[in-house]
Parts: sequence; structure tokens; C-alpha cells
Amino acid sequence: TVRTRIAPSPTGDPHVGTAYIALFNLAFARQHGGEFILRIEDTDQTRSTPESEQAILDSLRWLGLEWDEGPDVGGEYGPYRQSERKEMYKEFAMRLVEEGKAFLCFRTADELNELREQNKTAGIQRALKQQDLELPADEVERRMAEGAPYVIRMKVPTEGVCEIDDMLRGTMELDWAQVDAQILLKSDGMPTYHLANIVDDHLMKITHVIRGEEWINSAPKHKLLYEYFGWEMPRLCHMPLLRNPDKSKLSKRKNPTSILYYQRMGYMAEALLNYLGRMGWSMPDEREKFGREEMFAAFDIQRVSLGGPVFDQEKLSWLNGLWIRENLSAEQFAARLQEWALNSEYLSQIIPLIQPRVEKFSDVAPLAGFFLSGMMPVSESSFEHKKLTIEDVRKILQFASWYLDEQRHWDRDQLFEGLKALGEALEFKIRDFLFPLFVAVSGTSQSVSVVDAMAILGPDISRARVRHALD
Ligand code: ATP
Ligand code: GLU
Repeated sequence: TVRTRIAPSPTGDPHVGTAYIALFNLAFARQHGGEFILRIEDTDQTRSTPESEQAILDSLRWLGLEWDEGPDVGGEYGPYRQSERKEMYKEFAMRLVEEGKAFLCFRTADELNELREQNKTAGIQRALKQQDLELPADEVERRMAEGAPYVIRMKVPTEGVCEIDDMLRGTMELDWAQVDAQILLKSDGMPTYHLANIVDDHLMKITHVIRGEEWINSAPKHKLLYEYFGWEMPRLCHMPLLRNPDKSKLSKRKNPTSILYYQRMGYMAEALLNYLGRMGWSMPDEREKFGREEMFAAFDIQRVSLGGPVFDQEKLSWLNGLWIRENLSAEQFAARLQEWALNSEYLSQIIPLIQPRVEKFSDVAPLAGFFLSGMMPVSESSFEHKKLTIEDVRKILQFASWYLDEQRHWDRDQLFEGLKALGEALEFKIRDFLFPLFVAVSGTSQSVSVVDAMAILGPDISRARVRHALD
């Protein structure tokens, strides 16, 4: 049976790119009557969080991308979370060391930098290999006795080419000289992506690996690992990455990338999924609007085209409009609207902020309407202020925008402290400093506290509104 998988790392907001790759894996599995697996790759313990994992599961499920096996639904080949499989990877790494296919590396960060510098000055155009990295036996013994930290690295050929077969690209040749002696096991005993990914794909009986093209350069290491272990390698298929309308790689600095943003903006899950299905792929009859089952019935991975698919929000809005008009009865529309934002879960976050400020229910919409809106219609005159010039306003919005982009934890108090410090650094009074943000986020300065509002709206809408105000 065909078995495919999506293997997200829970290190941030659920990315539309993850949903796009998941959709193609699911379509391929369904087309072949196979199975689709979800595996959480949380070996980077400093960046992985349970909140991010939950948000990824919820978002994929919201889109209708259901999996046959995964951390929440179980399955025959679990656990499906790599942090719960830690000991296993170590044994596989040790097996390669015993067989002379991997080695212990005691090099410190400083030594590695020095080696790279040396290579650069000597004009050596190849990655670091075992012969560069390995220390004399007595030095290894000395460091080991000292209890110095070490990693396990794989041996890699110094020359020649590695042939990689790709379902869309045919045979690609990659130079071994550019491939470094990849770390397989880190000094804390955790595997790297490369080791864990290969071990799990093998043990979970994955037959086809459909993933983003950013992984092409890793494919030689993966192929070699399969050879070292004596395992059959799954077929590889590298999908084109999503792009901004200016053709650069889709990035949150230019375009919202979180599924939560599209959900909060009020796109229908069906329409977003339909749009993702149009990324690099088309129906045999070129029809633009199609549902999940229609896509699966007509699916053929060979119809993926390699020109970078552009993720364009305006095009998505157009398609969403079709779905809204053609696929929802008035009753369904009402139900969807409730589910979207007129639900008690969302409203209960907003009510404590507005109840103290209204006299009657009809005051609510003017005060809180921005919680149910997309971008706010603001112009230069919206930002007029006694103590701030328009240059001040720009500067504040620009610095705030950079600051907001950097935040990985979206917490009310933390945002407040951070913005306060930024305002002080730029030598503004906190009230003045927050004014442009108020206007950018809520469309007016007469509203609830801007940090409260941003905490509820979430990072993507908040960032997008600040960026929008700068345009
Ligand atoms: P950004 O540049 O916006 O920070 P990123 O590349 O850092 O994005 P990650 O958090 O590293 O995003 O990626 C999350 C997931 O989304 C990964 O599985 C990655 O493969 C996928 N992904 C990121 N960018 C794209 C893209 N342009 N097209 C398809 N998938 C993508
Ligand atoms: N954990 C990797 C990611 O976040 C998986 C890549 C793969 O599919 O091999 O994209």
C-alpha cells in the first residue's frame, strides 16, 4: 500500500505551506487507496511547543485534511511524536558508528569555525568531511576522559555525484563535495532531522515522500543513510515552494503565512483548500473551483508544474466569494458566520473589554467592530496627533512592525513590556508611542487597549494591520 506523510515541526504558527504539502500527500494517498500519516518532528526541543503542535493539528483538521495515523488518533507504527522515540534514534546512530559509517566528533564550535576559515583561505570548495573533523586517537581519548561533549556525524564521500530520482524532476545529480559530514545525533542525545526522518519513514513504512523543494539538497544524505542501513528508500517528490506575488519565497514579512490568519479573516476552509489545490496543479479541464473529493478523483501528481506557484490573497478572495455565493444557503451562511466569530469562545474574550465602556448594546458594534474586520481603512489623516509628526508616526509603525514580526510568543503582558521598552528607546512617551498602533490596529484611537486588542486578534492580523497602515 501507498503510505504518505506530513511531518511538521511544531515551532510556530500553522503554515499554509504545511497545509499545501499535506493536501498533495493526502491526494496522492487517496488516489492510490493508501494511507496518510501525520508525524510531529519535535526534535528541536528549544523551539517546539505543545501549543504550536495543537494549532497545527486543529488547522489541518479545520481544512478537512484528516490523517489515518497520528499522535492524536494513534496507529500501528506509533508513537507519532519524535520526542517520544528518542532512545530508538540513538541506537541507530550507534549502529552506524559500530559499522564504521559514522564517527564521534569532538570538535568545538571554535574549532569548526577555524576549519571553515582555513578551507576558505585555501580556496577549498567542499564541505567539511570526516578527514577534516576527526581528531587523532589520543586526543579523542583525552577529550572523552574529560567528558567533553561530542556529536555523531555520518561519513560522506568526498567526490563524485549522487543521483537522486525525483517523481517530478527525473534524475538529478548532486555533488558529494558539497555535502557535509552531517550531524546525526546532537550532544544532548537528540537526533537531527535527517536521522529521525529516515528512521521514522522506514519504520512507518512510508512509500512516497512528498515535500517542499527546500529539501532537495538534503536528499543525498538521506539516500546514503538508506544505503548505510540497508533499507529501501521511498520515492521522492519535491514540490515547488509557494511564492509571494513578487515571486520571492512566501514569507510572513510580505504575506501572512499562518492558517490562523486566513481563518480569522473569514475565508471558508473549502475555498482555502481549493486554492491550495491550485498551487502548481490544475484539474484536467482547468476548472478553477473544485472540492476536495473532485480533486482526489482527478488527481495525478504528474500534473504538478514546477514553475513557482504564486499565493495571491486577492485571487483567494475571489475564489472564496464563489464558494460563499454558490455553496452556502442563507441558513448555512448564518451558521458559518456564527462559527467564525459570533461564537461564545471568541466573544467571551472581547466582552470583558467592552462591557465597562458601553451604555447600551447598540454601542457594541462601533466599539468592537474591528474585532470582526479584516484590514482597517486608515489614511494619513487618521494618524493626526498633537504631539506627533507624520514622520514620527511612520517611524513608530515601522519599528513596531519589526518588533511584532520578531515575537514568537504572543502574550499580552509581554507585548506591553516590549512595546513600552521600544517606545522608551525611541524617546517617546508611552501614550504617544501607542497612538499610531491604536489607529493601525483598531482604526480609531477611541477604543479598548491596543495590547488587549492585539492579544485577541492574534499575531497575523495585528502584524498585517500595522503593515497595511504603513503602505
Ligand atoms: P518565514 O520565512 O515566513 O518565517 P519559514 O520558511 O521560516 O517562513 P517555517 O516556520 O520554517 O517557515 O516553516 C514552516 C513549514 O512551512 C515548513 O514545513 C516549511 O516547509 C513550510 N513552508 C515554509 N515556507 C514555505 C513555502 N514558501 N512553500 C511551501 N511550504 C513552506
Ligand atoms: N520536519 C520537516 C519540516 O518541517 C519535514 C520535512 C520532510 O518532509 O522531510 O518541513
